[in-house]
Amino acid sequence: MANINRILGTFILILGIISSFPNLAFSGTKKEVIYFKNTDYEVHVFILEGKEPGHTVLIVGGLHGDESGGFLAAEAFTKVDIKKGKLIIIPRANLPAIQLRRRYVNVDMNRRFFLEGSFADSDLYEDKVVAIIKKYIKQSDVVLNLHCGSGFYRPRYINHLENPLRWGQSIIADDDKIYFEDGKKVNLRAIAERVITYLNSVVKDPKYYYHFNNTRTRYPDSIHPEQRVSLSFYSLYGARAIAFGLETSKELPLDYYKAYYHICAIKRFLDLFGIVYTGDPKPLFHPPHLKYLLCSIDGHLTCIRNKDTVGVPYGARFKVEKVIARFGYPSVVDIPDVKGLNDRGKEVIIDSPKRVFVRKDGKVYASINVVPLPKFKEDIGLIIKVNGQKRRVAIGETISITPKDHLYLCDVFGLKEEVKVNLLGFAPPGRHNRGEDRGVLIHPEKAHFIRRYAMFEQGYTVYPINITNEKYLLGTVFLRIRSIR
Ligand SMILES: [Zn+2]
Repeated sequence: MANINRILGTFILILGIISSFPNLAFSGTKKEVIYFKNTDYEVHVFILEGKEPGHTVLIVGGLHGDESGGFLAAEAFTKVDIKKGKLIIIPRANLPAIQLRRRYVNVDMNRRFFLEGSFADSDLYEDKVVAIIKKYIKQSDVVLNLHCGSGFYRPRYINHLENPLRWGQSIIADDDKIYFEDGKKVNLRAIAERVITYLNSVVKDPKYYYHFNNTRTRYPDSIHPEQRVSLSFYSLYGARAIAFGLETSKELPLDYYKAYYHICAIKRFLDLFGIVYTGDPKPLFHPPHLKYLLCSIDGHLTCIRNKDTVGVPYGARFKVEKVIARFGYPSVVDIPDVKGLNDRGKEVIIDSPKRVFVRKDGKVYASINVVPLPKFKEDIGLIIKVNGQKRRVAIGETISITPKDHLYLCDVFGLKEEVKVNLLGFAPPGRHNRGEDRGVLIHPEKAHFIRRYAMFEQGYTVYPINITNEKYLLGTVFLRIRSIR
């Protein structure tokens, strides 16, 4: 198991330094913090900080699971590079509700931000997540709470879809002005109206114009007393952060606009609060592409590709350790018969064939099959030569070499049947690639590797060597090559 932890520990998203910056000295830092890892309600927090100090803006999306515009817009800003100020982004606050495409699961998360008390010990996952969000609200100067509301907010009643009780296409504040203890007055209406002026120049069609929506939450005659336990109200009165609710309309003709108008609004807010960044935030509508499912089988790591069928010893302990995918955040794993919305990290005994599905935002985008094999020998692996020195490497283990070394895959051990040994991403010189890499001298410095097959660690590139028989993937040996830069 130590081996697994070592490998997993190093498969970190390299968020630290962004290579698109020509001059690294001016680039900001990015950090991803994961709470409640491998649970249904995992929370990913992205912290982007510029070199130059400035305001801290918190963006929260996905409090409500059926409001995709909010989480797609928030996610878009995780890709920018901050030069001045700090962005804290929680794109998908309510992951279970997003998987189910429902507003909420147990309780409405945007009605759990009580001014007093923390509910981190609550039995409800919603309260545990709220406790985390509150922690970040306290670190922020400005909080933007992203939603997609029904109809269109209008200051006066027009019809059942356009009236003061609807939310769509509005920038919301709990009051016109807020007075902070230090005597500082912030004119929330004036800030919102500057954002709205810009938004309406983008929107163009008066039907979708934005309006300022002052919910007057704390006043006895407010028509929105339910907002007294909302994220925005807590931010303003419980944490003394400037807070706005941002709503696009569920009635917009395309999902694209539900995210796009949010992005325009956030951009304007960031300008007004002096956050400087580069990059053009765009909503990610691409379906994810699964590179590998990194699974552990009886404690051995195996690299499985989309649609692969992996053969495992009958009764093996199987677990998905990590989803490695392009556009894959936040992927969840679903193994039917296993309880819960996210089965990543859960151990399953393979005594019958199983399918494993990978989903993002409720949609399946990849799957693999796991099949128990009664006569599977556990002690299998590769016989290799590194610079002429013979070694045995069991499945799940790693071969570490430098670009100057010579690697030769001699044979397999523990298997009598016909198998193929395929170093993924390696294009053998001068001949047709038939997926068999035994008998070829591999000299990384000169060899041609296709990088999309690689997994990256800091300073290293890792390629899987998969052993397959006619029907099944039987196991992986990992080749770790020090990167050439
Ligand atoms: Zn909402």
